[in-house]
Amino acid sequence: MPMWNCDFDNCQKPAVRTYGECTLCDRHLCTQHLQAEFHKCPAWEDAESYDPAAGEAERRELTQLLSKINTPALASRASHLRNGIPCSIPPLVYDRAIRSSVMGGMNYHVEIRFEDGVSWLARIRRSNATSPPPDLRDHIIRSEVATLQFLEKTGVPAPRVFDFDFERKENPVGVGYILMEKMPGKSLRWSLLSADQRKKVMSQLADIYITLHSFPFQSAGSFDQPGTSHIGSFARESLTDYHPSGEMRPLGPYSSHEQYLIATLRLTLSLIVRQECYTPRAVDAYLIHRYLLDCIPAILSQHTHDDGYFYLKHADEKGDHILIDSSLNITSIIDWEWAHTAPKSSAFKSPIVLLSVSDFYAGINTLGDDEAIFAQLLEEKGNPELAEIVKRGRILHRFEFCAGYDLADWDGFLGLFQGLRNALDSDAHLDWEGWREMAIRRYAHEEELRLLLEEDRGRG
Ligand SMILES: [Zn+2]
Ligand SMILES: [Zn+2]
Repeated sequence: MPMWNCDFDNCQKPAVRTYGECTLCDRHLCTQHLQAEFHKCPAWEDAESYDPAAGEAERRELTQLLSKINTPALASRASHLRNGIPCSIPPLVYDRAIRSSVMGGMNYHVEIRFEDGVSWLARIRRSNATSPPPDLRDHIIRSEVATLQFLEKTGVPAPRVFDFDFERKENPVGVGYILMEKMPGKSLRWSLLSADQRKKVMSQLADIYITLHSFPFQSAGSFDQPGTSHIGSFARESLTDYHPSGEMRPLGPYSSHEQYLIATLRLTLSLIVRQECYTPRAVDAYLIHRYLLDCIPAILSQHTHDDGYFYLKHADEKGDHILIDSSLNITSIIDWEWAHTAPKSSAFKSPIVLLSVSDFYAGINTLGDDEAIFAQLLEEKGNPELAEIVKRGRILHRFEFCAGYDLADWDGFLGLFQGLRNALDSDAHLDWEGWREMAIRRYAHEEELRLLLEEDRGRG
């Protein structure tokens, strides 16, 4: 059993991850049934047809989700947890106009208002074709809860968790949820800040890095047991395989960065060969990930700071995970889904919000202004080692972006990949076409590549 089987009539083939997850018709499709002959939904590039269809699909999905939520049961649970203080939940109606205030990634947030002025959020997973299967969904929820519980002990500003449950028969609320503190503040919008304002935020981010640096772990993985600081397997779709029996097989935990990198790339290569990801660019994706596997020794040789320990890392540091008040004080770091531990070199390179996006995608490898200031702040706060990691983080940024990158953004990928080869001084003189030809020759002896090339030719 793959993660999903194809939903097309009687087709038992594995569905393609990501590219084969269509939210418009809410189906998982295999390589064959993704073709236009069978799958008629508009592609996202065709905005005129796609956007209204996507809007309608979202309305359908969320209307159904909201109808499943038993609000009296949720209010009763929340009130019980606060020794009977009454609370209320505004009527739940899907309204596109307020979507950004009630949705965060793949979550819908229901506000619970207590009579004494306290507010909580019920964080509820959305459910569409891009959602993980239930066993994996619950593993990820469990991990997010355990991560937030850990953060409460560290002093890193993050919402406190009060309760959680999964979607199951015995749960009267009707859907899985995490009950958490509603944090004040607004999502950070980095591009709107002046240099001084940025510096103020970065100084606080540096303090958070320094705090997390004081909590080393023995292995790379994710928190997996609420109430403990146990690090178990990773809790993320892209790091999860499924056994033929249908059993979920999340990767990890690992005791070295090398093991982690090898395992994640091997999983991707295996999924490509099994037609579970990266169709229709299977050959390109294979060559890229096969090459990344060969780059691991060069990547690891850069990381002289790694000490065998692992540190907590937020998985999506684009900036909107940081809430700030009107004086630019960080009130909370939110959205800890997929968080995991990583070696120093990975955990403490600069958060991607500080990267110059245009330089990064243009393949330029010099340190950006914000990163330089961030490194300086860490240095001034007495952490030259973390400063050095920030200054030398570019290669790993590129490597981590290239692994698992969505190749639908092909132009973006080409810049990233050229930048990686430049930074490693490896195959750097070749353009994509030249590199591809060379890579096909380099890996020609591998049976998996031969099969993929045959299939590619078969499709013409
Ligand atoms: Zn579709
Ligand atoms: Zn199919």
